[in-house]
Amino acid sequence: MNSDCLFCEIYQEGTEVIYENESFYARFDKFPITPGHAEVIPKKHIVSLADLTNEEWTALKPAIEDTIGIIEEANESGRLKEFYLDLINNPLNDKSKSFCEQMISHIGLGKKPDAYNHGLNDGEAAGRTIHHLHWHIIPRYNGDVPNPRGGIRHMIPEKGNY
Ligand SMILES: [Zn+2]
Repeated sequence: MNSDCLFCEIYQEGTEVIYENESFYARFDKFPITPGHAEVIPKKHIVSLADLTNEEWTALKPAIEDTIGIIEEANESGRLKEFYLDLINNPLNDKSKSFCEQMISHIGLGKKPDAYNHGLNDGEAAGRTIHHLHWHIIPRYNGDVPNPRGGIRHMIPEKGNY
């Protein structure tokens, strides 16, 4: 537990936790890229992938699989839409509100995702902003971008097309 860390604090508070096992918990992102965008996060304050024990790596696999199941259930049941509407009515900040508003009219809202991008920014130079390891799960839906070819490569825009 690091008292200055958002992801430590969220686990302590517990209200945003959508899943947990012995080593990891999951939450929905409040700046969602697509409906159901979630993070799988170690319960302990672990900064880098290199700091995970073998036992924690083993616990990561079911955490990712089970979180995907929860994303699918939440979106198809309408629970995810309620989550975004709550964040529009009681916004964290203007940027979060704008991201959540985009989810309400998103092609993927209410659907089972067709695919997933997984992402991890391991280090500041890789774009990490919260220094507590978090594995992004980003659902993808048929037709969500005009040309999905290249997938995760588009995270570095000028390197996206090849
Ligand atoms: Zn932390």
